[in-house]
Amino acid sequence: MSCNVENLPIAVIGAGPIGLSAAVNLLDAGLTPIVFESGDCAGSNIANWAHVRMFSPWAYNMDPTAISLLKETGWTEPALTDFPTGRELLDRYVLPLASHEKIAPHLHLNTRVDNISRQYHDVLRNDGREDAAFVVRVSNADGERDILVRAIIDASGTYQTPNWLGAHGIPAIGELAASSSISYGVPNILGARREQFAGKTVLVIGGGHSAYNALQDLVKLSEQAQDTRILWGIRQATVDNIVRSPKNDELQERRRLEVHIQTLLEEGKIEVFTHIAIEKIQSDNGKLVVHSHSKALPPVDEIIAATGFRPNLALLSELRIAIDPATQSPVNLGPLIDPNLHTCGSVPEHGVAELSHPESGLYVVGIKSYGRAPTFLLKTGYKQVKSVTSLLANQGDIESAVANSPLSCDARVPGSCCSK
Ligand SMILES: Cc1cc2nc3c(=O)[nH]c(=O)nc-3n(C[C@H](O)[C@H](O)[C@H](O)COP(=O)(O)OP(=O)(O)OC[C@H]3O[C@@H](n4cnc5c(N)ncnc54)[C@H](O)[C@@H]3O)c2cc1C
Repeated sequence: MSCNVENLPIAVIGAGPIGLSAAVNLLDAGLTPIVFESGDCAGSNIANWAHVRMFSPWAYNMDPTAISLLKETGWTEPALTDFPTGRELLDRYVLPLASHEKIAPHLHLNTRVDNISRQYHDVLRNDGREDAAFVVRVSNADGERDILVRAIIDASGTYQTPNWLGAHGIPAIGELAASSSISYGVPNILGARREQFAGKTVLVIGGGHSAYNALQDLVKLSEQAQDTRILWGIRQATVDNIVRSPKNDELQERRRLEVHIQTLLEEGKIEVFTHIAIEKIQSDNGKLVVHSHSKALPPVDEIIAATGFRPNLALLSELRIAIDPATQSPVNLGPLIDPNLHTCGSVPEHGVAELSHPESGLYVVGIKSYGRAPTFLLKTGYKQVKSVTSLLANQGDIESAVANSPLSCDARVPGSCCSK
């Protein structure tokens, strides 16, 4: 099945906001995308957190090239200063984009990418590698198929691979056995999952904004279902720095959530356990007992693991990737986003120079490009996509693409990106 590689389409893995942005920008540059989405609709990871209000406003959440395309159809642009929920992001932007007559023919729903490689080349083989097409192994209701493409844009997100509760990065002892009472991510506590949490003792683990969202909803639930008891376990030694966003934070919703959690703590609505590092989870008379530093926490009915997400690198294991050992992002992006080095949460714009791998023609974009770092924003992803698609349109002219890359700081120069 050899062919002229230049005539092949470009595979986009995932039809989240960033995968769709890649499709729009490829078409805009005169290239042909083929988009594979494992879910039954575009944005199907977002559907899991549809009830969450975003902390970035509409102005940051949409790709300008996609806006132009949507405007051709009589689409009504949302108020740019409003903060959508995940549901609104889907209904007012992601789904209209996916069903646009220029995008829909390129979109393959219910089609999972299981593997990617290079035609007739396993990861070891050099000979003629750069000229070989990529092979994308997909599966759907009709079975498995190999599809040849010219380049890969992996925008498959991280939501399907949450971090474990275990403090060592691997499952805590007993975590897998207890999985029916553990919810990873941001469950819809006040909606579809209400019965699971109402009147129960619930332990939330995690110190980020997903944990704050879960705590906020549990407190609301406890006002209606009075026996609901809320425990919160964090790694940190104190909850003194809950409000970390500046007063004039451009992501105002983020600060509002932080201030609200601070107030709930002051009102005594949440029992806090600091210095938590989970080693073991034991089932005991229908309850779960979490052990941290060899001490047991009070027994609980349910645990919410708001412990972040990690990239699925297995998908790329037959390709030559260079991954930052700490963040698991592309190696040149790691120093820009490593939370061990930067605390500000803001990341400079970046492009192909930071996203490239030794495997030419492979780009990981969107939240997956950040690996385990938690600071990804859609507006950064849209800039990534612009840079990658312009490189692909220029037949791989990396020098001009790098010259046009939006990178505005050098991570190796202390202080030029964000304060430490
Ligand atoms: C609760 C929450 C709140 C957030 N709030 C904000 C915010 O306020 N502002 C902001 O800018 N960002 C926010 N983010 C971060 C980020 O912008 C979102 O996670 C966003 O959805 C990332 O877009 P994406 O396209 O990279 O990935 P996703 O939206 O996760 O899309 C990936 C897509 O790939 C598909 N897929 C996965 N594996 C495969 C496969 N093997 N084959 C085919 N398809 C596959 C999935 O089904 C999914 O549709 C938030 C994230 C979360 C979890």
